[in-house]
Amino acid sequence: MSTDEASEPKDFIRSIVADDVRAGKRGGLVATRFPPEPNGALHIGHAKAIALNFSIAAEFGGTCNLRFDDTNPGAEEKEHVEAIIEDLKWLGYDWADRLFFTSDYFEQLYAMAVRLIEKDLAFVDDQSAEEMRANQGSLTDPGTNSVWRDRSVAENLDLFARMRAGEFDEGSRVLRAKIDMASAVLTLRDPIMYRIQKAHHHRTGDAWSIYPMYDFAHGQSDAIEEITHSLCSIEFVGHRPLYDWFVEALEFEKKPRQIEFARLNLSHTVLSKRQLKKLVEGNHVRGWDDPRMPTLRGLRRRGYTPEAIREFCEGIGLAKRDNTIELARLEYSIRQDLNVRAPRVMGVLRPLKVVIENFPEGEVDELEAVNNPEDSSMGVRTVPFSRELYIERDDFMEDPPKKFFRLGPGREVRLRYAFFITCVDVIKGADGEVTELRCTYDPATRGGDAPDGRKVKGTLHWVSSEHALSAEVRLYEPLFTVEQPGALEEGKDFLDCLNSESLEVIENAMLEPSMASAKPGSTFQFERLGYFCVDPDSGSDRLVVNRTVTLRDAWAKLAKKEKR
Ligand code: ATP
Ligand code: MG
Repeated sequence: MSTDEASEPKDFIRSIVADDVRAGKRGGLVATRFPPEPNGALHIGHAKAIALNFSIAAEFGGTCNLRFDDTNPGAEEKEHVEAIIEDLKWLGYDWADRLFFTSDYFEQLYAMAVRLIEKDLAFVDDQSAEEMRANQGSLTDPGTNSVWRDRSVAENLDLFARMRAGEFDEGSRVLRAKIDMASAVLTLRDPIMYRIQKAHHHRTGDAWSIYPMYDFAHGQSDAIEEITHSLCSIEFVGHRPLYDWFVEALEFEKKPRQIEFARLNLSHTVLSKRQLKKLVEGNHVRGWDDPRMPTLRGLRRRGYTPEAIREFCEGIGLAKRDNTIELARLEYSIRQDLNVRAPRVMGVLRPLKVVIENFPEGEVDELEAVNNPEDSSMGVRTVPFSRELYIERDDFMEDPPKKFFRLGPGREVRLRYAFFITCVDVIKGADGEVTELRCTYDPATRGGDAPDGRKVKGTLHWVSSEHALSAEVRLYEPLFTVEQPGALEEGKDFLDCLNSESLEVIENAMLEPSMASAKPGSTFQFERLGYFCVDPDSGSDRLVVNRTVTLRDAWAKLAKKEKR
C-alpha cells in the first residue's frame, strides 16, 4: 500500500471530516459526541455510533463527548445513566472529563428560546394536539397557520415565562418556532420547541415544568459544546434543515454540522429500545442482560469481548443507506477474537459412558494438553485419563454410515491428547438405548499417535468420569425466526416471530476438572463444540456456562460463496 492509499479516508464521513480539517474549517478542530438517551440499555447499534464518534475523534486528534440526552423526564432513569457509563467503559472508550447532560443546559436553552421569541421567530401556541395535527397539512398540501401565530413578542414572552413557572396544564400550550407552515420540508412547519410536562427529572428534580424537544435541544447542545461534526443515524436526515435553521437563527459563530449515516440492522434481531423493552417487560427474555439480547450487557454475558464488538463495528463499514448485516458477521468477529484468546478445554454436553476394559481400575494417567494451539505462551495443562470416561453421545453410532468418522462397533478413533480406543461392545438399557460402550485402548498411542503409523479418521473429546465437573450449559439460537423482525409488514407483530427454541438448557454436561477454577466472565473453547463463557449464575457448587458461538463458521462459507 502506498502512503497515499494508506491515508485515503475509509468512508464518506471520514472524507468529509478530512476535507473540513484540510480546509481549516473550525480551526481544523474535530469535536464529536455520543448522545444516548438514558431510557434503556445500549445495544450493538449504539456500538456502531459509539465506535464511529470516538474513533473519528481519535484519528483526527480531536475530542469526543459523552452527552446524556436527558430531555424526556418520564422515560429516563438514573440507573440507565450508570449502566450506559459502565457499558461504554467496558467497550473501552474514554471521554476523560467530557461527560455532559443536556439537562445541564436547560437554563441556556431557555435563554435561547427567549431570544428566538424576541426575534419574533417563536410563539406560544394554544392549539390542542388535534388542532395542530389537523393544521399540519401533508406531503402534498401545505399546512395552515395557527390562529395564535401573530401574538405579540411581549405576550409570547409573558406566556412562555408562565409556562416555565408551571401556571398552565400539560398539553394546554407549546412553544413553536415560527418558520413556514407551507414548507415542503415538514420539519420546518412551525416545529414544537417546548412542551409543558410536570414530571420529576432525575437531575433537575421539580425545577422545570417545561422540557425542550429533541430537535431544539440537540443542535443547541452541540453548539454549546462546540461540536464540529454531529454524527447521527439516517432517520434524522429530514431534521437537518431544522437543525441548521436553529443554529442560523441563534447566530452561533461556531456552527456544528449534522451528518447522517445508516443505522445498523442485524438479521434475526431487533435493535430498537422500544422493542427490546417489550422483550424484557413481557418476560420473553430474562432481562436486559439476557445472553440472547443484542444489548452490550447481553453480549457481554454471552461471552462477547469488547475487542470483537469494536472489530465488528469497524469492519462492517459505513453506508448512507440502511442495510442489514448478517448475524453471522457478528459471530465471525467473536470467533476470530476468541480463537487467539480463549483457552481450550474439553467438555461433553450429552455424556455417554465409556469403559476402557484394559485400563487398570483405580489408576489415573495425567496427559498433557495444549491450552491454545494459536498461542504457545498459554502453555499446557494436564487432563486425567481413567478407566471410565464420557464421550459425546453424538460421537457414537451403532450403525454408522460411511462418512461418519467417529466411533462405532469395531471402529478405532483417537481420544484427543490421549489414546486410540476401539469399541468392542455396546450395552443397552431396557428401552434399547445405548447406555455404555466397552472399549479397549492401545497404550502405545499415548499422546495421540500410533508408533506403527496407523491412522484413524476421527478425534473425539472426552472427560474422565470420576474427575469431571457437572455443569449447566445454556445453548442459544437467534431470538427470532425471521430475517427482519424489526421491519414486518403492517399488522404483523415482532413478538409473533419469537424463536421458541432460542434457549436450550443442558442440566448435566461434564467438564474437565481444570474448569473448577473458572470465574464468571471467563471464556473457553470447548474443543470441537464452540466458545463458552462462565455465567454469573454460577455458584461455588455449580458451574453455569453459556455457549457464545459454535465453531461452525457460516460467515466464512458465505463469504467464500459470495466471492465465487
Ligand atoms: P432506539 O431506536 O434503539 O431507541 P435511539 O436512536 O432512540 O435508539 P439514542 O439513545 O437516542 O437511541 O441513540 C444514541 C445514538 O445512537 C444516536 O446518535 C443514534 O443515532 C445512535 N443509534 C441508535 N441506534 C442505532 C443503530 N441501530 N445504528 C447506528 N446508530 C444508532
Ligand atoms: Mg433517539
